[in-house]
Amino acid sequence: MKLNVLDHGSVELIDFMGSDLRVLQAARVSTASHREIKTEAQNKGLINYLVANKHWSPFEQVCLTFHVKLPIFVARQWMRHRTWSYNEISARYTKLETEFYEPVGLRAPGLTNHQGSVNFAGDDAELLGYLKRSFVKADTRYKKLISGNVANELARVVLPVGVYTEFYCTVNLRNLLHFLELRLHTHAQYEIRVYADAILSILENQIELSYTINAWKSLVLNGRTMSEPELAFVRGILLNSSDFNKDVITAELGPKGLDRMADVFRIAFKDRA
Ligand SMILES: Cc1cc2nc3c(=O)[nH]c(=O)nc-3n(C[C@H](O)[C@H](O)[C@H](O)COP(=O)(O)OP(=O)(O)OC[C@H]3O[C@@H](n4cnc5c(N)ncnc54)[C@H](O)[C@@H]3O)c2cc1C
Repeated sequence: MKLNVLDHGSVELIDFMGSDLRVLQAARVSTASHREIKTEAQNKGLINYLVANKHWSPFEQVCLTFHVKLPIFVARQWMRHRTWSYNEISARYTKLETEFYEPVGLRAPGLTNHQGSVNFAGDDAELLGYLKRSFVKADTRYKKLISGNVANELARVVLPVGVYTEFYCTVNLRNLLHFLELRLHTHAQYEIRVYADAILSILENQIELSYTINAWKSLVLNGRTMSEPELAFVRGILLNSSDFNKDVITAELGPKGLDRMADVFRIAFKDRA
């Protein structure tokens, strides 16, 4: 399955080994019950149990290989995930196609979240034109150096991080889910998030992995863990208990403690925004 991402990018599932069944066999070998036939409910229940209790090693028995085409700045973020194996196109041995990522619209720096960005307030047409012209110039210079007999490995230094690259990458399911947790999050940059979205769509289409993906989505992606004071807050509300003391929360979490608590509930009960 191949999905297009951004303007020239894509993610394609090349191969995968294993399934929910392999996870179950790997988990059950510990009690020598890996050859027993179990019911669907038992299988689903065990996968949920493994995810809920962070018994992640059985998920390492499933491996997936993708071919990804993406801008270099997204590849740099992706490759921070050290548990993947990568093979990338070489700009030493190959003259690059020089396709550049042109965002549909620009974004301004985030107001509260320094990692984030927000919609551009003004008219971005002029700056988008400037960005496009920068790519055209870089492309012209790259091709001029190549036609002047400069080696690929040196000519490439004029190319910006918006140029596309491609790689094959292989990862086990445990580390893939960890990647998705980080890169689907709203704190991750939009341009890598859309690749993570594409991978999640691909996984959701693999019926062989449906117990794992559903358990992970419910317990990890859309679930929440709570700190001790947050739990005390919830317990206080549920039991209408006098244990819940605003001063305790403020003392433990600082002056913004109650605001943060409200934030936890907003995220937990509404959305991940
Ligand atoms: C929103 C966001 C912002 C970021 N900003 C920055 C930034 O400004 N600067 C920056 O440099 N990076 C940044 N990163 C990258 C981040 O610090 C991690 O390098 C990246 O997300 C990979 O995560 P990981 O190490 O958990 O994953 P992987 O490298 O895939 O590792 C998976 C897991 O294996 C284990 N592991 C792997 N290697 C080791 C090791 N050497 N020792 C111990 N355990 C190990 C850990 O449990 C780890 O969680 C950012 C990431 C995100 C998602």
